[in-house]
Amino acid sequence: MADLSVVIPIYNEEGNIPVLYERLTAVLEGMHITYQLIFINDGSRDRSMELLHGLATKDARVKYIDFSRNFGHQVALSAGLDRTQGEAVVMMDADLQDPPELLVELYQKYKEGYEVVYARRRSRQGETYFKKSATLVFYRLLARMSSIEIPLDTGDFRIIDHKVVEMLRRMPEKIKYLRGQISWIGFRQTSIEYDRPERYAGETGYSFRKLMGLALDGITGFSDVPLKIVTYFGLIVTGFAFIMTIYVLYSWFSQSDLVQGWSSLMITVLFIGGVQMIAIGIIGEYLSRIHSNVRNRPLYVIRDSNF
Ligand code: UDP
Ligand code: MG
Repeated sequence: MADLSVVIPIYNEEGNIPVLYERLTAVLEGMHITYQLIFINDGSRDRSMELLHGLATKDARVKYIDFSRNFGHQVALSAGLDRTQGEAVVMMDADLQDPPELLVELYQKYKEGYEVVYARRRSRQGETYFKKSATLVFYRLLARMSSIEIPLDTGDFRIIDHKVVEMLRRMPEKIKYLRGQISWIGFRQTSIEYDRPERYAGETGYSFRKLMGLALDGITGFSDVPLKIVTYFGLIVTGFAFIMTIYVLYSWFSQSDLVQGWSSLMITVLFIGGVQMIAIGIIGEYLSRIHSNVRNRPLYVIRDSNF
């Protein structure tokens, strides 16, 4: 059992792997602890896997898991967590946006007795204005909608105790939102702050679609508020319809020529139609996640590994 396992998902990171490995080993050697590096190749289409093979042959502390295809960042992290042997586990990105040098401080805090130490972004460079404002809004929205406390402005970069890892392994959900799950688990949690640099090489593997998917997984996994909103809205609309009914009946009795009101009719029909569609969509989001869990397929498929 090593002191520390470092879990790193890899998706087209050929430009980062050599530097990452150099900086990581330099830092870890300096810390005088035993460690293992676990790389999960999440269906890269570049030379990432070749580079990982190279590292593994020259360094026995390098472990790799090669997925059969791209399963996504959260699943890759989960696969790594399924196999860590460290007393403590660090999760970090491969693109050096999570600086390896921060491991010293993370480990220190961990040694002070915190089971979870996450790195909070004080600032972030090289991110589009749109992405920054979208995440800003999203995390605050999620914080208000969920009953558990998910720390603001943090990604998955953190150190966690093996007790937390064991709990994560026991959580059966197929839709992974690790930062939410870790908040749910509890224990003593604290944070350190850092300025997030730009990606060192290559391009982001998080397309807009993947990012939206992650956001939806976070909301549906940790909040029922959207469903409640639908219910409340339904109640309000029903109440309004009731009042309208009284008005319509009254008009019918008191007036003789009643063929007017095409506009109001159309507006009502279109509006209610739209609201209903949204409501069904929200229910569908939850339903599809229930479906994923019920299907109970394996979370990922491994082609090859040196464990
Ligand atoms: N990643 C992954 N699978 C994916 C997308 C990303 O394993 O489908 C990895 C990627 O290699 C990196 C980490 O997840 O180590 C974070 O991804 P990225 O830097 O592209 O996201 P961003 O920092 O732009 O949000
Ligand atoms: Mg990145």
